[in-house]
Amino acid sequence: MFEYHEPQSLAEVTSLLAAHGETARVLAGGTDLLVQMRKGRQQPHHLLNIKTVPGLDQIIVAEDCVEIGAAVTLYDAEKQLSAYQEYGVLCQAMHSVASCQIRNRATLAGNICNASPAADTVPALVVLGANVKIHGTKGDRLVPMERFITGPGRTVLLIGEVVSAIVLPRLNGGSRGVYLRKARRPSLDLATASVAAFAAGGSYRIALGAVGPTVIRVREAERLLAAKGLTAASAAEAARIAGLAARPISDVRSSEEYRRDLVAALAERALLALAEEVRA
Ligand SMILES: Cc1cc2nc3c(=O)[nH]c(=O)nc-3n(C[C@H](O)[C@H](O)[C@H](O)COP(=O)(O)OP(=O)(O)OC[C@H]3O[C@@H](n4cnc5c(N)ncnc54)[C@H](O)[C@@H]3O)c2cc1C
Repeated sequence: MFEYHEPQSLAEVTSLLAAHGETARVLAGGTDLLVQMRKGRQQPHHLLNIKTVPGLDQIIVAEDCVEIGAAVTLYDAEKQLSAYQEYGVLCQAMHSVASCQIRNRATLAGNICNASPAADTVPALVVLGANVKIHGTKGDRLVPMERFITGPGRTVLLIGEVVSAIVLPRLNGGSRGVYLRKARRPSLDLATASVAAFAAGGSYRIALGAVGPTVIRVREAERLLAAKGLTAASAAEAARIAGLAARPISDVRSSEEYRRDLVAALAERALLALAEEVRA
């Protein structure tokens, strides 16, 4: 049994979260939370539906950033951000989540707060240099996406805090990114491994998903690409480094060995596709 709340402001969300502590959970699209409740993995006494908070379903485009409210669905975020080629890597990642029906309910904020090592949007947000805007009883704080998730199912959120938005930096129009994932079937399955690759000017970022407890930035490969430029040879070398950087486990989706080979192959493909994007 749980009590269902429809808060009308972020202040009400945080005061309910602070009052009920560990027994309260934020409900966004519910596509993770309700499944976990049904399986008995989560048994909250209070559910706070943040889709009833006015304004959280908005995307605000400012001069220096784009703020995606915590109630914006993956479907709406993809539709609106597809106008900006520099956010292509995030649009590809959002499009690869589940199915159209789920993307119509699920939120971007819910995808990161669930903190699955295989969450599709996290590698893309990391390479874009996104920040997570957190609202608490003492006000707002910004945390880099790269530091927001601390382990499987764990984030830096404290009791009484809620994610209010994901903040993307405005980027040079020439910036480009590619997201590739492999799963056991084309949709409705979590990634076995994933790679986000991003180029801005002469610098590069690479992030790996589903091959470690949290997303892995492959800084050694990024430095190599910055020094040598993105060519077929440097892409192959960077991909080899990515395979070595992975810290996969064996589970129902794949063995550890297969994941390591897979992530190297995906990284090479992603970098070659990125080279095409940059040239186009
Ligand atoms: C069949 C199926 C297939 C799926 N396939 C994929 C897939 O391919 N790739 C993938 O990445 N995911 C997949 N998912 C998982 C899920 O759909 C996504 O993670 C989704 O983005 C979660 O968003 P939501 O709004 O539904 O979150 P919810 O279920 O509402 O919440 C998820 C968690 O985050 C917390 N939370 C939500 N919003 C906030 C907030 N603003 N502040 C603080 N905490 C918050 C909740 O309390 C809960 O713990 C799949 C799920 C299903 C059921």
